[in-house]
Amino acid sequence: MKRIIVGQIMHESSSLSRTPTLESNFRQTLIWFEGKNVFDLSTIGMRDFLTGIMEKGQELQLDISPCFCTFASPSGKISAKCFDTLKQKFFSNIDESVPIDGFCLALHGAGVSEADPDVEGNLLEEIRHRYGSNLPIIVTLDPHANITSKMIQNADLLLPSKLYPHTDTYETGQKASCLMQQILTGDINPVMKVKKLPLLIPLNKGCTEEFPMEEVLKKCLECENTPGVLYCSFAQGFPYSDIEECGASVVVITDGDTELAETLSQQLADWIFQRRKDFISDGLTVQQGVDKAQELINKGAKLIVMNEISDNPGAGTPGDGTYLLRELLNRNLPGTCAGVLIDPETAALASKAGAGSYISLKLGGKTDEYHGKPIELENVYVKSICDGKYNLLSPMTHGQPVNYGTTVRLQKGNIDIIVGSQGFQTMDDGVFTLLGIDVRQYNIVAVKSAQHFKAYFKHLADHIISVDPPGISSGNLHQLPLKHIKHPIYPLDETEM
Ligand SMILES: [Zn+2]
Repeated sequence: MKRIIVGQIMHESSSLSRTPTLESNFRQTLIWFEGKNVFDLSTIGMRDFLTGIMEKGQELQLDISPCFCTFASPSGKISAKCFDTLKQKFFSNIDESVPIDGFCLALHGAGVSEADPDVEGNLLEEIRHRYGSNLPIIVTLDPHANITSKMIQNADLLLPSKLYPHTDTYETGQKASCLMQQILTGDINPVMKVKKLPLLIPLNKGCTEEFPMEEVLKKCLECENTPGVLYCSFAQGFPYSDIEECGASVVVITDGDTELAETLSQQLADWIFQRRKDFISDGLTVQQGVDKAQELINKGAKLIVMNEISDNPGAGTPGDGTYLLRELLNRNLPGTCAGVLIDPETAALASKAGAGSYISLKLGGKTDEYHGKPIELENVYVKSICDGKYNLLSPMTHGQPVNYGTTVRLQKGNIDIIVGSQGFQTMDDGVFTLLGIDVRQYNIVAVKSAQHFKAYFKHLADHIISVDPPGISSGNLHQLPLKHIKHPIYPLDETEM
């Protein structure tokens, strides 16, 4: 049996965030598994890149040898000390498994450390250095990967998954194992071409079920159906990492045909770049968004989900943005709930006061100057308190443990507000249910997310309204303090391919 090392270090880093990512941030997500314990991910029923790799690999009779798996919710740069610890854990568990025949890894592609702006490139370079250039290395990536030259140099195949919301991560993991098995048997001889585009795509234009990304996805699938092509995907990139090599890329993998890979990747990159204006953000202001919601409710709409693009903890924001919540409190529309606002101070205050008490507080807006000022409130009712833990209900990374820490439900006027202690994007209504809220009984549900919430809420909501007040994951890239991205790049500059 061929021994394949599998592992995961997964972090989407926002260089715009003031909150450094520490070892404790990785551990508190409850995704921290070493050696054989990584198989526990399958036991808890998690469907993600790594379980796809492991389960398919075992089915294909590969000797799957896990080294380390961890994930932290997107946040600021990974501290140098933390990155060092993650690498130590990763490599110490590999050394026990030597000799080995290849690597199938689940990495993000937009990891940034204080020690190196290219986390994945750094890790892959060290793997090559330690284990030689003959071992095949296949890496699944998040579609928000900023694919760097170091990543291309040090991996045989990079497989960004295709869908946003990311509901195909398990299948992408399975694909990685299939390709590995075919490489080891000599059935295929893959060649990869990555074509970088001078293009930044804001998160709110990335949904692959909507224009224009739906068209891009169709093109990728067409390309993948060309005889001789093994894989084709479009990595949208993650502008908020703010590293030199930020930007979108086309990946085409063929079976031994370098020219075909070159031609198809160039054609697809050109086709996408010609449509660059379609990726310009079009989020509403909070006032426009709430006006629209009110109008739809007056016309009889039932459940409206409002998402805040610019304060999306899934893109490394603090989650304590107050712009939308302030507007909702001012309007006081019946049947409104909002969550999850991350404010550990408030969660602790409410928890200490206890359910059934009234408190005065300053809510949110405490982390930086980008996300609005704290909201001062008096006579806020503490309705319920919980530990903030559940497993994702969403079809995206279904089963993943979620840990908001101490989480409370507050009530002020007609508004229910959920306040958590640890950042995590609102992906489904699990946390609402923990605190006694059935979102189906509400008119407006406000969430902090750009796209991922749609995987779950699209089946519940009559309408989705996206608002984009100031914040570090705003779709309005011109307004962000981006410093390190290489210019020229669209839409920051008018440029050609
Ligand atoms: Zn992503």
